[in-house]
Amino acid sequence: MRTNPMHPTENPLRRLTDPRLFREQAYVGGKWRSARDGAVLAVTNPSTAATIGHVPDLGAADAEAAIAAAQAALPAWSAALPQERAAVLRRWHGEMIANREDLAVLMTAEQGKPLAEARGEIDYAASFVEWFAEEARRVNVETVTPHLPDCTMSVRRVPVGVAAAVTPWNFPSAMITRKAAAALAAGCPMVVRPASETPYSALALAELADRAGVPPGVFSVVTGAPEPIVGALCASPLVRALSFTGSTAVGRRLLAASAATVKRVSMELGGHAPFILFPDVPLEDAVAAAVAAKFATSGQDCLAANRIYVHRGAYDRFVHAFARAVAALAVGDGFAPGTDVGPLMHERAVVKCEEHVADAVARGARLVTGGQRLGGLFYQPAVLADVTPAMRIYREETFGPVAAVVPFDDADDVAAMANDSEYGLAAYLFTGDVRRVQRLTAALDYGMVAVNRVRMTGAPVPFGGVKQSGLGREGSRHGLEEFTEIKYVCMAA
Ligand code: NAD
Repeated sequence: MRTNPMHPTENPLRRLTDPRLFREQAYVGGKWRSARDGAVLAVTNPSTAATIGHVPDLGAADAEAAIAAAQAALPAWSAALPQERAAVLRRWHGEMIANREDLAVLMTAEQGKPLAEARGEIDYAASFVEWFAEEARRVNVETVTPHLPDCTMSVRRVPVGVAAAVTPWNFPSAMITRKAAAALAAGCPMVVRPASETPYSALALAELADRAGVPPGVFSVVTGAPEPIVGALCASPLVRALSFTGSTAVGRRLLAASAATVKRVSMELGGHAPFILFPDVPLEDAVAAAVAAKFATSGQDCLAANRIYVHRGAYDRFVHAFARAVAALAVGDGFAPGTDVGPLMHERAVVKCEEHVADAVARGARLVTGGQRLGGLFYQPAVLADVTPAMRIYREETFGPVAAVVPFDDADDVAAMANDSEYGLAAYLFTGDVRRVQRLTAALDYGMVAVNRVRMTGAPVPFGGVKQSGLGREGSRHGLEEFTEIKYVCMAA
């Protein structure tokens, strides 16, 4: 393993070309504000443990104020012509692209991911704003051939109303734009409550929305501890759609809390992606793909390959080569050039990696490389071989840089093994056999399947899972439809 500098002393905020993108106030109803009682939450850099700054610790009353501002903005925003909303979104997209480097710096400072990955996330985040600016113009009305005499029938999509978003810290920018751009394009103002760990990416998006001319109340960012704010968003009868990305455990709670007001909900929850490898794939390609599918964002990715199934015909060769590649990953501060793997977000994440490794080894797995604490929130990327269903890592999301490799013998067995999970977000399949691809892509109970490649997501395609990985889809026209209701009109001729 190469270690890069882990604790540089430079203040990352000095890298900002436009320091006004670093906002330490919340953005509610088009105004920047602090908590009435002055309460704040500290935000720390996970690489250094240094405090980056503070944000207001707002509460239920502030969330209600943001909802009221959104409700007040709703009539004009939903009645605007789609091309008017599209023009605002395009300006917001332009601001993001123009400030790409600063947004990436803020993200690496608060999230820890390597700067190159942060830049990639800003491009990805901005692509949703551009995409939904275009889709705003394509919310069409259908006419129906009437089954009743002397009438015309139309079915149209109308904005659902005020929307709310609750987002995680692993993709601090993209998880917001994937929701907000869709909501805004559909005509719905949105109140966002970002993760406490990564509010600055969200607040910079608010600053850029303000510059782009997003009207007051159409996009608010309410910072603070989760329960009071999210509780108010779930309880409000004015919030007609709740879009959540986070763990399945919290998603279940928010679903229950939204039941009282019968909201539209979309849930992007946990994942436990199988990565299935057959021996007909060149070893080098297979190793590079497995490293990419497991170690991006330090493994803190809902799409991370948590079970790597390797056919026995390639198993030993793969484990050896994969372990060598993983051992060569550079761990360090996200700003240090060449860093492949940054820190984890919390101490509890480091403990979970340790527990998954210890549990697997105690039950007979081999720790082939890594698996040590490196100080602070850094953890040495690890490979476990001979993992079995009896081990915690086989069932629980690790959300860290520990790869679990499992041998298999038969193509039919591997589909059943891969489907043996409460999750169903993404799966990866590597084989050159077309018939096998057809059989397995049909058999895999996952919302998204990548064949012979890792990267598969993007604005034009529906992102989402089945089973306890979630409800609904983001991106594509389906993502826009999450923020619409269907209205049917039957009119006498
Ligand atoms: P989390 O569920 O702990 O938190 C998500 C959000 O919910 C955060 O804003 C958090 O502050 C808030 N929250 C936490 N507890 C809450 C409570 N009791 N009441 C109200 N709100 C609460 O998840 P996380 O640790 O931030 O993110 C990791 C999880 O997100 C993983 O399970 C990962 O798979 C999932 N994820 C899913 C996707 C997807 O698109 N499917 C994308 C990214 C992350």
